[in-house]
Amino acid sequence: MDHLVNIFKTVKLPLIVFCAGLMVFGHVSAQNIHSHNDYEQNVPFWNAFAGGAQSIEVDIYLRNGILYATHEEVEIKEGRTIESLYFQPLQNAINLNIGVHQPFQLLIDIKSEAVSTLNALITLLEKYPDIRKNQNITLTISGNRPPVSTYSKYPSYIMFDYQDLEDIRNTSSWEKVALISLNFRKTSQWNGLGRLTAEDLAKVKAIIDKAHSYGKPFRFWATPDTKTAWRALAELGVNYINTDKPASCAEFVNSLTNRTFQNSIYSEVYRPSYDTDQKKKKVKNVILLIGDGNGLSQISAATLANGGELTLTQLKSIGFLKTSSTDDFTTDSAAAGTALATGTKTYNRAIGLDTLKRPIKNIPEVLANHGFLSGCITTDRLTGATPASFYAHQGDRSMTNAIAADLKNSKLSLFVGGGERDFKHKQILNEYKLLDQLESIGISKDDKIGHFLADGDVKGVLEGRGNILATATKNSIRFLDSKKKPFFLIVEGAKIDKYAHQNNMSGLVSEGIDFDRAITEAIKFADKSGNTLVIITADHETGGVSIPQGNLKKKQIEGDFTTYDHTAAMVPIFAYGPYSNEFQGTYENSEVFRKILNILEIESP
Ligand SMILES: [Zn+2]
Repeated sequence: MDHLVNIFKTVKLPLIVFCAGLMVFGHVSAQNIHSHNDYEQNVPFWNAFAGGAQSIEVDIYLRNGILYATHEEVEIKEGRTIESLYFQPLQNAINLNIGVHQPFQLLIDIKSEAVSTLNALITLLEKYPDIRKNQNITLTISGNRPPVSTYSKYPSYIMFDYQDLEDIRNTSSWEKVALISLNFRKTSQWNGLGRLTAEDLAKVKAIIDKAHSYGKPFRFWATPDTKTAWRALAELGVNYINTDKPASCAEFVNSLTNRTFQNSIYSEVYRPSYDTDQKKKKVKNVILLIGDGNGLSQISAATLANGGELTLTQLKSIGFLKTSSTDDFTTDSAAAGTALATGTKTYNRAIGLDTLKRPIKNIPEVLANHGFLSGCITTDRLTGATPASFYAHQGDRSMTNAIAADLKNSKLSLFVGGGERDFKHKQILNEYKLLDQLESIGISKDDKIGHFLADGDVKGVLEGRGNILATATKNSIRFLDSKKKPFFLIVEGAKIDKYAHQNNMSGLVSEGIDFDRAITEAIKFADKSGNTLVIITADHETGGVSIPQGNLKKKQIEGDFTTYDHTAAMVPIFAYGPYSNEFQGTYENSEVFRKILNILEIESP
């Protein structure tokens, strides 16, 4: 670990980045972003500096005593000097106390004659004592450099880029080396897509390890500039990732921890008997499970993280739902919940109302006239848009008090969810026997029962919620089944959506796996009862999630996100039990309601 500590000291790597690297990749990779040829950016210096690059490169050329920022003499433009583009802005940043609290390197790549240019630079820096003396700022000379043997003659604020692997640790010059840089193209022709070949990987690794063994940070230049390459280089422990896209690269690398899931929970996969699956057999009970925001990438991630399968992926009747609402290409949970609960598409934010704001009967209300009992379980607050669509009728999802009051007139015999405080007017709950324990639900002899999982929001499964969604599902099925009447149960895995909104991969995938544990309870009951139809779908996709990379052996998955919002991507629907094949195909989310009623031989209202 000693040389790693040295690296840390030498480049003053930010501790947080350093630790994040350790956490994600299991070994050291302080991922600093190096803005290659930064003077060619639309806005030199500020773009990279504001974007979070810890190292910025400027080529300089000395002509008539002026240090121009340019690649070659023929490209010199009057006014574009290292002073105007870098020293003045950096001085400004220091004066205004902007972004100078973390280590920052200016890599000055000399294109004209080494010694005279460096001397001119030192003369110019006489004007900038704040830059020279700032402990967080390193000025590193690259490109044409004076002989290595002369390094120690230069002022203490001048450091050098060492572009060799020859061991010079026993010379006085070594202390003047800020980092080791090498041309990536001398080792590999990788284009930054897919993976390095095993042969190139070994060579690249050997170089990085050698540089680290010298106790200096390492940079490759001429690397491929893709997300795949940034991640691979970070994972290999390259300390400065060379890029022409400093802001996007910094955002990508800095969000890797949040976007990478390391599996810690597991859903024990149940293998269904398929005895009644797709059979034309009378259906008695219906269980509808809604994963909020559970799109195909979310399901794929949960599947891969769970060792390649879920109980959900055992099912054979699969379709796709189109989710748009009447007033928006992209639905919210209220309009989607209402479409699933009532068979009517409506406007975003509506709970159980049509576009003319008239109440529409939801499944529990329709089925109550046919002797069914209904129940509702959610890991959201009970007044959340999805559960509310199955008992309330209000113009806007934010009307929490009015939604809560609707529970009193609802057809629910059972509820489990968070947000007890939303029901503070006690008479709302008069008809329900409130149970303290989830386990009491299954053995309760009462007609109408409820259990609150939290006073406010329910915890995430990674925050220690425990296996309560599956436990609630199992006990609620037992309660409803004990009444000797047909039943309808809606179960919402609510937090997949929440974490997708935060672009948090661990939360999203663990909630998806947790949701599968509830699915397992429903499928087990379907096999036991022989007359239960189970439907699993989502209200919409959230996050625009893709899963570009991962590691199956390590059960590690990287997510990438295109939005903090919902998307209009179609969502999968799975079904199991008699007539489950009716759910195959591609159709509108509002059709789910009609399909359920058709199968139950009940006319739509
Ligand atoms: Zn949402």
